[in-house]
Amino acid sequence: MTGSPASRKGEPPGFRLIGGEPSLDFVNTAEWNGDELLVDLLSDYESLVKWAVQAGVVDARVARKLRSRARLDRDEADRALASARELRGILHGAFNATARAHGRARIRDAFNSSVTALGGRLSDALQHRRLAAERGRARFYWSGMGDRLDCIEWPIIWNAAHVLASDSADSVRVCAGKDCGWVYVDRSRNGLRRWCSMETCGSREKAHRHYARVKSRKQGRLSQASP
Ligand SMILES: [Zn+2]
Repeated sequence: MTGSPASRKGEPPGFRLIGGEPSLDFVNTAEWNGDELLVDLLSDYESLVKWAVQAGVVDARVARKLRSRARLDRDEADRALASARELRGILHGAFNATARAHGRARIRDAFNSSVTALGGRLSDALQHRRLAAERGRARFYWSGMGDRLDCIEWPIIWNAAHVLASDSADSVRVCAGKDCGWVYVDRSRNGLRRWCSMETCGSREKAHRHYARVKSRKQGRLSQASP
């Protein structure tokens, strides 16, 4: 997790990418308590572009096009941001239901409805997917990237669909940290990663446990000392 905006003061600007896949990192542009959104790091369309560049979802040339287009059409930028936030909610639902299933069949309503919603988005995104020959190889690419402000969603949707429909889905986890809710693909060797990162939620939890141990030891001593 990122901590509150105030606590991030002094840290280098930018998003922390710990999800292992862009679609999970996209969910991590907010902090969550269950389904409740606590902190939204996508404050405006510019922050969405910034995230997309950092996550490798769009390149610098496309980002330049998006920025100048967003300056010209604030309404389209607002609509694109609202749509991206809606997509993030869908992915949050899908990955959380996936993580909770622990590899069992995911028949929960939340999973079914979010995958259905993602499928609808995928149909739209695939209208822009193309295949071309390049230097003796076939290559996928997105047609019209940068021509409309919601194009940032296409690679996110494509990536999410691949994660959910592959073995990676069995390794999707939700951080055990309080009020974090970040998701990641657990690719640790033992498959026991519990935190989005050891530096934030992991160390905070360790500090809590340490404090609780010290407190119970003190209380133990006090009760032993009392007659
Ligand atoms: Zn966390």
